[in-house]
Amino acid sequence: MKVAVIGGGVMGLATGWALKRRGHEPVIFEQFEIGHARGSSHGRSRIFRLAYAEDEYVRLAQEALGLWRELEAESGETLLELHGLVEIVRTLEESTAATLERCGVTWERLDRDAAKRRFPIQVPDGSFAVVQPEAGIARADKALSAFARGLDVREGERVTPDEVEAEAIVVTAGPWVNELLDEPLPVKTTRETLCYFRPDAGGRPVPSVVSFKPGRHTHEMYSLHDPVYGLKVGAHHAGAEADPNTPGEPDAALVERIAAWANETYLLADPEPVAAETCMYTTTADESFILERRGRLVIGSPCSGHGFKFAPAIGERLAALAVDR
Ligand SMILES: Cc1cc2nc3c(=O)[nH]c(=O)nc-3n(C[C@H](O)[C@H](O)[C@H](O)COP(=O)(O)OP(=O)(O)OC[C@H]3O[C@@H](n4cnc5c(N)ncnc54)[C@H](O)[C@@H]3O)c2cc1C
Repeated sequence: MKVAVIGGGVMGLATGWALKRRGHEPVIFEQFEIGHARGSSHGRSRIFRLAYAEDEYVRLAQEALGLWRELEAESGETLLELHGLVEIVRTLEESTAATLERCGVTWERLDRDAAKRRFPIQVPDGSFAVVQPEAGIARADKALSAFARGLDVREGERVTPDEVEAEAIVVTAGPWVNELLDEPLPVKTTRETLCYFRPDAGGRPVPSVVSFKPGRHTHEMYSLHDPVYGLKVGAHHAGAEADPNTPGEPDAALVERIAAWANETYLLADPEPVAAETCMYTTTADESFILERRGRLVIGSPCSGHGFKFAPAIGERLAALAVDR
């Protein structure tokens, strides 16, 4: 069966990997090069966590964890570095502890002092930490290469579905998705800002740390280990709507807000960011993922700023939609 994939970001490459494991030889079209900085999958790290308020995301992350381990074994690369996820909360209800408990996922409560002894972080007065140990980062750059290994990836080829000869075409075009569809998806594209800092970790592991929007289980601020600078920090769903075809710069007001939170939350060797960059979100109203078939097309729009960790499991689902009939 002839299968093609439009989009060589993490979702297209993970789908290619899943198709290859089913014995297919997909062709992956990518308008730029793998790892380019204009979409959503570039950079060195993304948060990997099982900690979600919704059971289905915990289950999907658990499935993805098994597949990440298979990809590590296949590629010989370490793709997950799990130094823990810390949720900074004022009450247990604000955290994901209840869902983790229900799903049998290990978690731990640490008071301010205990958190500070274990990690190079500061927990505000009146708050405590909920720690999910089997979490941390996925090495984004290494993951793209590991998925792409052995795949027929056509870099520098921008295509539309009409131009592609295949029985099934998987469209994983990130923020460009609606350029390729007759009927657009209900998504919004934003340009997000993130910054890098040098933590003063004193040899302790840098965990991923998140805070929540008041009264919701949606992250407000997030941070994670960066293999080069040490720390990457961002504000979730804070960027302005943007067209991915128009280049853009980090938002100065967001850089300030991110730096303030980073200085409150981490012990830093330098209070100023050492670098800043942008990245695109493609977001649905409820932050869920769109995985559907429309005739010859299989459409994958699994972002909303939290899709990367699930990539191998989403790749499996998109491959199944393409070839399991
Ligand atoms: C700042 C930021 C922080 C994030 N943090 C996390 C995190 O901590 N944890 C987590 O799990 N997730 C996180 N995410 C989300 C995650 O990175 C995305 O969900 C994921 O990368 C989406 O991948 P994608 O393949 O769908 O999109 P993309 O990476 O954008 O890939 C789409 C590809 O399609 C190509 N393309 C488009 N149109 C065409 C065409 N016509 N022809 C050929 N090629 C085409 C594009 O060039 C692009 O390479 C974050 C995202 C951002 C932006």
